[in-house]
Amino acid sequence: MAETDCIFCNIIAGEIPSFKLYEDARTYAMMDINPFNDGHCLVITKAHSINLLDADPADLAAVLPAAQIIARAIETALEPEGINIIQANGPAAGQTVYHYHSHIFPRRLNDGALLNWGHAPGDMGKIEEIYNKIMAELG
Ligand code: AMP
Ligand code: ZN
Repeated sequence: MAETDCIFCNIIAGEIPSFKLYEDARTYAMMDINPFNDGHCLVITKAHSINLLDADPADLAAVLPAAQIIARAIETALEPEGINIIQANGPAAGQTVYHYHSHIFPRRLNDGALLNWGHAPGDMGKIEEIYNKIMAELG
């Protein structure tokens, strides 16, 4: 169901312009208008959901094939040194638009994007404690 005050719902409805790259029954891809690198774009679900947590699994299943189509086109057209697929859920994760979207995020060596973190060894006892909490939810 489209939300009238949602910018991405309005884009899908054609009420706000976008640089549309691709669409299918469940997804819509467009250029991000605040790109970090050249070719930064978004794959969004046509159906409104806030993010991964409430999205329809069938819509999510359509997102990665669409992302692959876009990523392959970027790979050929722009020859980046890498491509991240990034998706934010909630403010601490950096989500600013509350309609599901995955970023297709072309990378350049030393582009300074703060997406990578170090691999310091974890505390196995703590990892197990957290694992048990998550497993209790998975049943
Ligand atoms: P996030 O911060 O992960 O929620 O990503 C939202 C993204 O949507 C940002 O990268 C914005 O630049 C992008 N964005 C916001 N409004 C528009 C728009 N009208 N057209 C294309 N991209 C947009
Ligand atoms: Zn929406």
